[in-house]
Amino acid sequence: MNNQLPDFPSGRAAVFNGAGQPFEFIERDVPPLNKGEILVKNLYTTLCGSDIHTYCGRRIEPAQVVLGHEIVGDILFIDPAHPHKDFRGNEIKTGDRITWAIFSVPADVEAPRKDMPQKSDYLFKYGHALANGNDVFNGGLAEYCVLHANTAVIKISPEIPVEVAATISCAHATIMGALRIAGEIAGKRVIIFGAGLLGLSCVAMCREAAADHIALIDNDESRLKWNEKFGGDDAYASPSEIAEKLPWAEADIVFDMTGSPQAMKTGIDSLALGGIAVWIGAVFPAEPVQVDAQKIVRKVLQIRGLHNYNYDDFVNANAFIESNYKKYPFGELIEKEFHLSEVEEAFEYAYKSKPVRVGVKIAGA
Ligand SMILES: [Zn+2]
Repeated sequence: MNNQLPDFPSGRAAVFNGAGQPFEFIERDVPPLNKGEILVKNLYTTLCGSDIHTYCGRRIEPAQVVLGHEIVGDILFIDPAHPHKDFRGNEIKTGDRITWAIFSVPADVEAPRKDMPQKSDYLFKYGHALANGNDVFNGGLAEYCVLHANTAVIKISPEIPVEVAATISCAHATIMGALRIAGEIAGKRVIIFGAGLLGLSCVAMCREAAADHIALIDNDESRLKWNEKFGGDDAYASPSEIAEKLPWAEADIVFDMTGSPQAMKTGIDSLALGGIAVWIGAVFPAEPVQVDAQKIVRKVLQIRGLHNYNYDDFVNANAFIESNYKKYPFGELIEKEFHLSEVEEAFEYAYKSKPVRVGVKIAGA
């Protein structure tokens, strides 16, 4: 069987050359697929907070990278060596709509821990790899993406709006991981710091997991309007407000999406006996968090971090969105859309106006 692609000889990619540099649009041939790879036609990419950190130079990526790792697309071609099954065991074929994990572990590499494949050596991360020669189709801001063999792929219904489906592979999967780490949610009092897509996804997931009470906090008051629509009970614009008005004194679980040392400290201070703080926002350099060790010990508190997510989280996040995309208005959180050709404007808008998410339409651009 011929694994060349005569019908898809070339495609466009928007290459990021470093903060302050304009995006460069390049046209390249799709390279021949390696064993077990899948060629995807990207349909839609949402700009994650970490893309925006990279864009503004707060987070350093190699120059010449095709950004975008919250992606959804349709399968164009599957190399014959691929098992033609998705991660849930469903058959996949050309034309199927899929999402895929942001990372791929090479087949011969063993994960350092079974539950942490995202921390393996030689990890390949979509939207973070060097755009090199014809090997540019490895991120969301390009017309195609070549999925490495061994990438966890999940076939999803084309009825899920693309702007919602795109966000599964970073935001929702990460939050699913945060809930896993937090343990039992049912009957618990939860405070969530940060009302971006991560925070609002966390509100909805905690609601579905039968949390007793969910409070959301963000100093951007315009975002708090979403709280109720995602199942939250109370929303607060500052930690002092939470201290004054929260109907209960202490939380069983606090989630931090902000990466702000002050917010993480307030979170620990808000915990009840035996409480747990789950931190996922601190993915950029910041001042250390001052913790009162005696309080941690005497109140039997836990602090747990999570970076990215594991395969179970990815599978469960897909299932969560499949069950709940009509119940919660996730699509409305993509507050503005751009075409791939407007990627510069998309980042500028995301950086300056701070919407919950910006979407980039890839197909038909
Ligand atoms: Zn992300």
